[in-house]
Parts: sequence; structure tokens; C-alpha cells
Amino acid sequence: MAHPMTMKNGQPFDRASLESLMKRRLFYTPSFDIYGGVSGLYDYGPPGCALTTNIVDIWRKHFVLKENMLEVDCTILTPYEVLKTSGHVDKFADWMCKDPKTGEIFRADHLVEEVLESRLKGNKEARGQKAEEEKEDPKKKKKKVKSIAIVKLDDAVVQEYEEILAKIDNYNGEELGLLMKKYDIKNPATSGELLPPVSFNLMFQTSIGPSSNLPGYLRPETAQGQFLNFQKLLEFNQQSMPFASASIGKSFRNEISPRSGLLRVREFLMAEIEHFVDPEGGKKHPRFDEVKDVELELLNREVQLAGKTQVETTKIGKAVETSLVDNETLGYFLARIQLFLERIGVDKSKIRFRQHMANEMAHYATDCWDAELLTSYGWIECVGCADRSAYDLSVHMKKTGAPLVVREPRKVPLQIEEWQVDIEKKKFGPKFKKDGKTVEAAIEALSQELREKLSLDLEKEGKITIDVPGVGDGKVEVPNDLITIEKRTRVENVREYTPNVIEPSFGIGRIVYALCEHNYWTRAEDEARGVLSFPPTVAPTKVLIVPLSSHSDFKPFVRTLSDKLQDIGVSSRVDDSGASIGKRYSRNDELGTPLGITIDFQSVKDNTFTLRDRDTTRQVRASVDEICKAISNLVNGTEQWADVAARLPAFEGQEVD
Ligand code: AMP
Repeated sequence: MAHPMTMKNGQPFDRASLESLMKRRLFYTPSFDIYGGVSGLYDYGPPGCALTTNIVDIWRKHFVLKENMLEVDCTILTPYEVLKTSGHVDKFADWMCKDPKTGEIFRADHLVEEVLESRLKGNKEARGQKAEEEKEDPKKKKKKVKSIAIVKLDDAVVQEYEEILAKIDNYNGEELGLLMKKYDIKNPATSGELLPPVSFNLMFQTSIGPSSNLPGYLRPETAQGQFLNFQKLLEFNQQSMPFASASIGKSFRNEISPRSGLLRVREFLMAEIEHFVDPEGGKKHPRFDEVKDVELELLNREVQLAGKTQVETTKIGKAVETSLVDNETLGYFLARIQLFLERIGVDKSKIRFRQHMANEMAHYATDCWDAELLTSYGWIECVGCADRSAYDLSVHMKKTGAPLVVREPRKVPLQIEEWQVDIEKKKFGPKFKKDGKTVEAAIEALSQELREKLSLDLEKEGKITIDVPGVGDGKVEVPNDLITIEKRTRVENVREYTPNVIEPSFGIGRIVYALCEHNYWTRAEDEARGVLSFPPTVAPTKVLIVPLSSHSDFKPFVRTLSDKLQDIGVSSRVDDSGASIGKRYSRNDELGTPLGITIDFQSVKDNTFTLRDRDTTRQVRASVDEICKAISNLVNGTEQWADVAARLPAFEGQEVD
């Protein structure tokens, strides 16, 4: 469903023109296009690859380097058993419903959302609000969504719809089915009845090896590989806690009906952090102080459950203090995510953090906040930040017996008063024969409470009776010559615990797309001239070198400038095509190239060049060394264009179209 947006310059945003630019300039293209394509699969072209690489590069610096995270690269192919244990085989699913007549498949929550939003829009139109808007801006009329039925709704119904939409992520399959019945939601194209929602597992299944006897999946997240290596990573980190691992790689999800371009795809790049923390002591973070004053827009669970969507601007320090955000480590990462998004050029006013409602949370999570970015598709989850508690390490440890735990010497040994059981092994075997082991295990499993009670039985009756399912009639008597139960003091010198995990999980493709929407605008003097105002640090190419013409006098300068920029690690491209300078710059504005160097006849005379800023189109003129220094500062973020323009002489020559 389209969400009205404005561009940086206040003009209405037009998704179709951005998408056409991105395809034309080969940021991305549908995969297998000449075979008709497959929905949810896209290839990235040169600018898309460079943009992604630059974002990942900043991500690595911002998170991995800053906190000495342990980066790993684990396999994508994952055996069935691992994902069965992690819960993904049983629970990693969405709800889908089918039109039995046409065979079309819909994702149930998206369908309900789309239909209700469309009815609300139709209602708005029916009430004339739309007509008013169109009077003010006739362009809007052209973009009217065709499929909207213009029907007036009662105020009470409008409120009901809005409340459902605010908590749409909280409904399970049955509830979605009921909503579809109650609100008469059918196939929007044919009005055909749909079957009730059924669960659909999102993992791609495969088999590993030629004999097909090792079933597996393409991983749906990079996290499991990190958990399985926990013990080795802890050792690598010299047993020191807390620490984090990190991984960047592809994940795969067989999305039910992907129709939102790059936002919902079936194969995508993820960057995930697993921060392992001691669950005792409130999950503190040693660097929390550095971020406590970072302000976030928070949309909490209660507000959504009340059917509302208003956010609260809160310093993360305050949010943790009032327990709105559960703990410091979770809060620390929310703030660091915000800073990262700002650093790469995401529009600050289009970021919010939404807390998951109870039913919405993944099977492993105890608390979860999504960083959502506002796009023309609405608010989209781009980073999930979940507290996975001890879930994953515990289930894998239980399944494999591997000690996925931390063992720490205690500063002060712990004295534990407890009821201990001693078994007279020599007599035990002959008495219980083949059942000996089972009986012994049942005794070992007795709780402290029961042990205390049984010690009295032993004293009074000279025997105890315990439940041992599967042996005899399920009750077993053990006489006092086989067993002793006594209260003793045990000294524990080592503390053993399963760490909890805080997981920030980034979908890089979604961030790339949202970044493009936030930085796209068209020049006021010509709507057809699109600009992508990426910050120089993330821009695919930093500098365009433009000789005024193909005159041979310019060639050595092109070479020198390219070499110099290469030496300082700045990517550049030469455009010596016959097109006008203006056209060449326009093309590069669309590619988001922030800087341009023009070589003209004066360059040949005095070795000076002009440097052009993409966003203002202003130019300065200076020597090659000055220009390279300015470029280097702009690209690594130590100077802004305004600083450069203030210290180098302006060049007033115009861009020729
Ligand atoms: P999740 O594990 O579902 O919280 O997903 C983690 C992140 O992966 C999300 O915040 C998204 O950015 C990204 N993501 C999830 N599913 C998709 C998808 N189908 N296409 C693109 N990105 C996705």
C-alpha cells in the first residue's frame, strides 16, 4: 500500500520515478529477467554493489571494530537437526490463504492490512478530503490508486480499522481468519472467497550430499552458526565476558507473496550481532554511559495494543531507567543502531523503534524492538533488536550435550546447604538388576524439598518409596541400607551459567532501499533531473572526472587526477563522452556521485581544476593538491561542502546543458 511521502525539497515523492532511475542506472535489476524473472529475487548492478559494500564497510567500523566483536562466516547450508532444535522447523512460519478458484496465494496479515487501508482511503475520498487535496495539488490526481472503492464508512468502523491496523502484527492465524470473515475480506482482484489461513514455513528445504539422507535448509538467519560456535569463541576471547560475535552473509526466506521491490525478497544480505551477556546483574553494558543521552522515537507495546501509533521521544538512559526498554545492553544497541542509521544518511525524522507485542515476538525472543524506517511502503522493519535470553544456547546444549556455558571462578566461594543423597552402589545393582540405572536416575532427580521429606521417612520407616515410571507398578521402595539422605554444606568455587543473547539483526537490502528513498529528490528547475544525495562516505562512486571535451590536451590531466585519487583510496570514474557537461553531471547526480572535477582549458594553462558539489551544484577552483585534499576530507567526513566552499575560491562558470 502506498504511503504518501515528500522529498528533501518538500515536493511529493514519486516511487515509480525512483524505481525507474534505480533500474535505469543499474542499482538493481530483476534476476533472470530475460527468462521472465522470479518474484522476490533481484541482482545488484555496479552502483548497487558499491553502495552495499560501503554501507557494510561502515557497519563493520561502527560495530565490529568499535567493540572488538568476533566476526565469523558460517555456512549457509544448515542440517535439519540444527533448525529443528532451534525451533525454526516448527515455528518459523507466516500465515497464508489461498483462493481455491484462481490458485492465488496471499499472506494473510498483509491482505487484511491492504484491504483495510484501502477501505480507509476510499472513505477519505468519499468524504471529500481527497478532492480538497487535489484542488491544492492537481498532480496528486494522476497518482490516484485505481483499485480503491470510494465508500463512506461509519466513524466507529474507521476507529475499529485503525485499531486493527495498529496491532496487525499481533494476530495469529485463527484471529486473522476471524477478521477476514468479520470484515468480508476476499480476493481483491476477483472478490472470490478465500480459504482460512494456514501456516507456511518460510525455509527453503534441500538435501546435503548425493544420497539425500541428510536433509537441510538454506539458513533463514546467520545467528545459528554463531551460537553453535559459542564455546570456541568464548575460548578465543580468553573466557572473558561479555563479548559479541558478528556475521555478514546471505539468508533465505521463502516469502509468501513478495510484492514490495527490494524490501521483501527471498534472498538477502544480513548483518547480525550476537552479544553474549551475563543474565545476572541486570544485563548492564560497560559503554552504556556513552549513549545514554541519545534520543529515540519509541513506540511501545501498550500504545499499539490500545490501537494507537504515537511515538514518544525519549533518551535511551531514561527509557532503561523506567524499564520501558528492558535492560542496558538492549538499550545500548538501540542507540547504536540509531547512530549507525544516521551516519549512513538515513533521514533521522523517518526512524522509529517499535516494540513487539507478545504474540508477534519470534519464538526465541523475550523482548524485541524493531528499528523501522518510513518509506513509501509505510513503516518498514529494517533492523530487529531482540533479547533472545538463553533460549538458543540452552536448546543446543540440551540436544548435543556441548557445554555452551560460561564457567567463572567465584571471588568468594559459595556455601550451599543442601540435601545430598548417597547410594550404596554395591548393593544397589544386585537388588534392582536391569532397573538399577533408572531407579538411580530417579533418585538423582529428586528435588530438595522431596529429599528433605524422604530423609524423615528414611529415619522413621527405614525405607523410602519413590515414583519411577516404567519400573514395576511405577512405585519403588528403597531400604535404608541402600541409601543415605543428609543435609550437608557444598562449597562451589566455580559459577556456571548460560549467557543471554542480545541480537541486533540488520537487513542490508532494506536499509539500502530506504536510504535511496530518503535521499532522492528532483531539481526544482527540472522534475526529470533526479538526484541521489548520498553522503560521500556511502556514495557508490565519489568523484566524476569530466574533461570539457575529448581534446587530446586534456588526456594527461585525466590520467594524473585518476591516479592521484586512486592513491588516496577514492573511487572515481571518467566521463569523456561527447555529451554536454550538464548532461554528464545529471547522469552522475542520478548515481549519487557527490563530487565532480572539470578539466578545462584553464587547467591546461595553470594546472587548476573546478570541483563541483552535487547537491548545491556550486563549484570551487583550486590546484590539484588542494582539490585532492578537499575530496579526501569530504569523503572521510572530516569536512562538509560548506567548509570547502568557505576556504577555496568559488568558480562561477555555469554548467552547460
Ligand atoms: P528478523 O529475523 O525477521 O527480525 O529479520 C531481521 C532483518 O532481516 C529485518 O529487520 C529485515 O531488515 C531483514 N529481512 C527479513 N526478512 C526480509 C526479507 N524478506 N527481505 C529483505 N529483508 C528481510
